[in-house]
Amino acid sequence: MAARADDQKRKEEFLKSQAPFTTNALKIIIQMVDWCNKTPGSKDLVDEMLHSILFLGKINPVSFSPKDIIPDPDMLNALKEKYSRAFDCYLTHLPRRSPFSFVLDMIVLQKKPENENQIKTSLQSLVQTLDPQFLVSTTLCVSKSNRSVSRYGVSMSTTGPNAGQVVIAASCLSFWDDYVAGAVMTYYPERGHEKDKGKKEYFDGTFQLPKDVACQAYNIQSEQPIDPCKSCGNMFGLSTDVKKEWPYGNCAEVESLSNMFTNEEEVKNRSKPTSEKWTPENRQKASESVLDKLNHVLKMVNFRTWKGGFYTAQ
Ligand SMILES: [Zn+2]
Repeated sequence: MAARADDQKRKEEFLKSQAPFTTNALKIIIQMVDWCNKTPGSKDLVDEMLHSILFLGKINPVSFSPKDIIPDPDMLNALKEKYSRAFDCYLTHLPRRSPFSFVLDMIVLQKKPENENQIKTSLQSLVQTLDPQFLVSTTLCVSKSNRSVSRYGVSMSTTGPNAGQVVIAASCLSFWDDYVAGAVMTYYPERGHEKDKGKKEYFDGTFQLPKDVACQAYNIQSEQPIDPCKSCGNMFGLSTDVKKEWPYGNCAEVESLSNMFTNEEEVKNRSKPTSEKWTPENRQKASESVLDKLNHVLKMVNFRTWKGGFYTAQ
């Protein structure tokens, strides 16, 4: 009997530990809807963010339905009316990015890319109202070259290895710039364990970022600069003494550089991978291995309704 009571208690504790998912989700949704009303051209960001949150709620270890996330029926109905596709597609399509990336895009759209301090302050004030465990990024990265405006990115705002692996794979296959995705796919799916995550033998899409391009990450809460981790050093040639190797694709540097390459061809051209293994055939093989891993993780989290598409707002 005692053992059973312990089990019960553990179960309740676990359920309780997951509750901030819904409180954070609701706060973020309310904030984004409010910002959307004042920010022309931002409806698609709310649309894709909603889809991303609904999907992550579904695959969370304690699964949350749209009703769990948005308990007020009036609000739920209003959102369903305005963003019907997000509700129709969260069981069949994968999000291209994790939710906080859309929050970042909204803030950059409002504040303009040149106003780095305002962007940081706005991110920080939102993050301070949220539980750090769910749907929140910890780092922001700012990349710039001599000639360009700043390009931003945030770290993955997923919780636990499974959700992170799903969104990293989805971003590789559907959203990130092809050079950046290639660098991530050089290591993802990771073969090794904690100490040696293992580079692919047949494909190398890593590259050396030109020296005149700055790529600096910051802790969103404290605004302190953060040195690149070993993974980012390996992928982008960023010099670092840090030994920690975050999962490949997890860091803010990835999204920030992807944004930069998408918008600045000149910088991208100077960052071309140089390995002989960087061929279209090998890249294709690497991207198939990412898709295999993605299907495998989706099975593990019991998500069996994916039709192969990635969600985009229309
Ligand atoms: Zn990193």
